[in-house]
Formats: sequence, structure tokens, C-alpha cells
Amino acid sequence: MSSTLFVGTVLTLNDNAPRASAVLVEDDRISAVGEANDLRSRLPAGTTTVDLGEGVLMPGLIEPHGHPTSSAVLLSENVVDIRPVIVTAPHEVMSRISAAVATASGGVLANGWDPLLQVGLVDPTRASLDELAGNVPLVIVHNSGHSAFFNSAAAAMAGITHETPDPPGASYGRDHDGELSGVAHETAAIFAVAGPFLSKSYAEFSSLITAELARANAVGVTTLCDMSWNPAQAPLLDAAREHSEFTARLRLYEMSRPGGTSAVARTNGDDVVAQVGIKTWADGSPWVGNIATSFPYLTNSTTEAMGLEPQHRGSANFSSKEILEISRAYATQGWQLACHAHGDLAIDSVLNAWESVITELSLTDHRFRLEHVGAITPQQCERAAALGVTVSVFVDHIHYWGDVLVDELFGDSGKRWADAQSAVAAGIATTFHNDGTVTPLEPFRNMAVAMTRRSHTGRVLDGATGVSLDAALKAHTTSAAWQLQAEEQIGSIEVGKYADLIIIDRNPHDVDAEALAQTQVLATYLAGTCVYEKA
Ligand SMILES: [Zn+2]
Repeated sequence: MSSTLFVGTVLTLNDNAPRASAVLVEDDRISAVGEANDLRSRLPAGTTTVDLGEGVLMPGLIEPHGHPTSSAVLLSENVVDIRPVIVTAPHEVMSRISAAVATASGGVLANGWDPLLQVGLVDPTRASLDELAGNVPLVIVHNSGHSAFFNSAAAAMAGITHETPDPPGASYGRDHDGELSGVAHETAAIFAVAGPFLSKSYAEFSSLITAELARANAVGVTTLCDMSWNPAQAPLLDAAREHSEFTARLRLYEMSRPGGTSAVARTNGDDVVAQVGIKTWADGSPWVGNIATSFPYLTNSTTEAMGLEPQHRGSANFSSKEILEISRAYATQGWQLACHAHGDLAIDSVLNAWESVITELSLTDHRFRLEHVGAITPQQCERAAALGVTVSVFVDHIHYWGDVLVDELFGDSGKRWADAQSAVAAGIATTFHNDGTVTPLEPFRNMAVAMTRRSHTGRVLDGATGVSLDAALKAHTTSAAWQLQAEEQIGSIEVGKYADLIIIDRNPHDVDAEALAQTQVLATYLAGTCVYEKA
């Protein structure tokens, strides 16, 4: 049996005993939490001591809404990285794509298109991509993950023609004579056009997922949720785990199919990898114009360039009745449901459907999850809380798109964006996330942004108030563990829980929000084993 004593400043995230000066880990679990002198007097023989020095020990962080099995592929060498966090100049975006086309052997997949941040980019058409890439199959995925552009060669490779029916909750853009226009809207259609490219990376999946988990460990994340789990990838994940032990836990939410049920039982997997829920997309992305809101987009050159008509309002992917049918089928099997819903109308629609399901099935501990909730209202937070529905808020939208939300897209309605505090105030165990490759995995930035509501230019989105540091810390620890039905195993430093721990370079209680965002992770432990150490 191995044992390690950590001595120094400890933030337990356990409300009953929030501070400690020592933590004893035996094998993979936390076996004692308390004062250094007490613990030192009763150590097992051979215990190693780790002096935290200036560092602070806290629970490993949880990313409650990621897409690690997709990110593993999208951040690999096989994909051209044009995310706005990597490249902002529009000509640079186009030259990266052109360079890849010029040297392509089998086709080019680029990820990260975002004209709102890469100002000057013009959404391509099938014709313009045919001109750019000729016979080379080319797919460009929008940074939001809610649309993708493709040329004729890519359509041919994916076997998609003008006669291909739209998948449920998704669609292919079509021009006036019914031909494919070269855009795929929403997950099912995007997976269809991008599928042939993704399959190329499956041969290397073991090393790609290992790298993805290592990236997470480096920012203190020890549990990642996958919100677009494709069960067909299960053999790949199994093989990857056999290849090397995972350095982070995965919690999987299988993509729903209308009328579908999951092929796996609700109790499955283990404490490292387990499917815990089902994911549905009620609407789309604010950045492509398809979120279902009661208020319109602004009418200006930006929204015109997005292809939106004056006073545009987006519509939902599914009707409330369709959401009800999808939800009922899976909830009857006992699954936790998670649903992407940005617009207030989409949120209403999902809450209506879930209220029916919760009542019909007399559910009491369902923890159904609303995802992103950009335009959620305080009243909707109250209603969600009363229904036992929880939320995960995409607060990092404020950092990257805060100015765009107000100035270009929604005016005053944008100032209320990602109102985490209303969810917290309603008593919801609120969490934050970075959503796979949409924004970099940066949990400490999320905490800071939720507190200040400040964009990268310094502007404050003052249509809502910020959360407390306490709520911010819980969003990536205890509240996230609860959302993932894992609060007995992870999320805080308590006796009996897994020793998923991080050492950070500053005490969040001693610094301002700007400094909190810059927190560095010095070391990360999964189940007592060090999986990352800062060089
Ligand atoms: Zn997502």
C-alpha cells in the first residue's frame, strides 16, 4: 500500500470543513483530512510527505460539458486548426486552408471557422469551395460545431446527394433548384459530411485520446464529460484504455435518436469510464443564427453577412412534442437527460417537455441538465430549480464574444448573456464548461468570468450580476460532481473519495478575479497517482 501526506494550504470544497492543513492519501483514496500535527502522529509506515509550500491543494477539476472523443481528433495533426483562439486574421484562415488543400492526399478537414471573431471571412458555398479545392474533398467546421461547409468532392465522399433526406434535428442547405448549397446544419448532418475524415483518425485514436487527457490534466481537469458520445466508438475507447491507463475519468452522454433507446444498460462502466446520460440538441448556436429566442437578432451588416433576414429570430431543431418523445423514451430507461438549449424559447420548450416526463414517471432524483443556456431568464432558473432541473452555463462566451453579443447580435438582450448568478440564486447546482474545442479548456478563467462578467476587451456585461468565488469554485468541483452523479466519489477532498487532486500556484481566496483566471496548475493527481507535473 502506498501512502502520501500532503501538508500545507488545503481547500477541501467540503462545506462542513472547508480548510485543512493536511491530507492523507492511501492508495487511490483520501483516508484522512485535518491538521498536520494530528495526521503526522498516526501515519502508516513508509508514508511520503509532499510539502505544498506556496502551493494550494484542492480537488481535481471537472469539465462537465466537453467533447473529448471529438476534440482528440479535431486537435490532432489530421485537422487544420483555424480556431479563432489560434488565428484571427481572415486571410490567414484562408491561407491555412489553401496550403492544406495544396498538399492534401485524401482530403482536408478544417475546424474553427468563426466570422464573428475572424472579421471579414465570408461563409463559403459549395461552388466557392469547389473553386478553392477542386477534386480535393474539403469540409470546414464552424467553431460553434453547429454548421459545416463542404464542397462537391466531400459530398461525394460522404455519399450525400441532393436526394439525401435531412437527418432528424439537422439539415443540408439547399439552393433554389434543390441542389446542395454546401452547408450542413447541426450535429447529425455535420457528422455525416465530416464522418469520412474522422474515420481516418480512428487508427490513431489511442494516442489521440491519451494526448487529449494529458491536455486536460495540465489545466487541472481530472474528469471530463463527453456530450456527444457515439456508442459506435466504444471499441476504440476500450482499445485506448488497454493501450494505456487513462489519466482522467470520462463520463459519457450518448447522442439521442428520435424514438431511440440506448443499447447499454444504465449501470455500466466503472469509476473511470461510464455512460451516465443522453444528449439532445434543442436549438443551435448564437454564432450561426439558429437559437430559438423571443427577441430578434439586431439588423446590421454583421447579421446580414451571417445570412439572416432583418429582425431574424432562430427556430428550434425539434418541437416541444418531439423533445417530449425523445426524453420520455430515454427517461423511461432511467437515463439522465441533457439538452443543449440556448434561446429562451428553446429552454421553455425543453422545460415543458421535461415537466411532463418528470410528472408522468414520478421522477425525484433525475438531475436533467440544460446546457449552455445563453439567454436563460431568472424566471426560467426558478422554474428549472422547482423541477429538479440543473444547468451548465457557457460563461466563457462572455470572455470571447461578449462585445459581439451586445454590439453585433442582440443589443441589451446580450447584456444578460450566460446569467449564472440567477441559476445559483435559484438554488441550482450550477456548473461551467468550455465545450470541447469551442473555447480552450480553462476552468479558472471560467470562474473569473462568471464572477466579473468581463469580456476580453474589459467590457462588463451588466445585464446580470456575477457569482461569488464560492459558487465559481463549486461550478468545477462539487456541483459538477453532482451533475455527473459522481458526488460520492469525486468533487471534494473528503475521506473515502478518490484522491483526484491538484496543486495550484495561488490561493483563489487571496487573489482578484483577473489573477484567478491566470492560475497555474503545478501538479495533478488521479486516484493518488501523479499524472501531470508542471515543468
Ligand atoms: Zn457541446
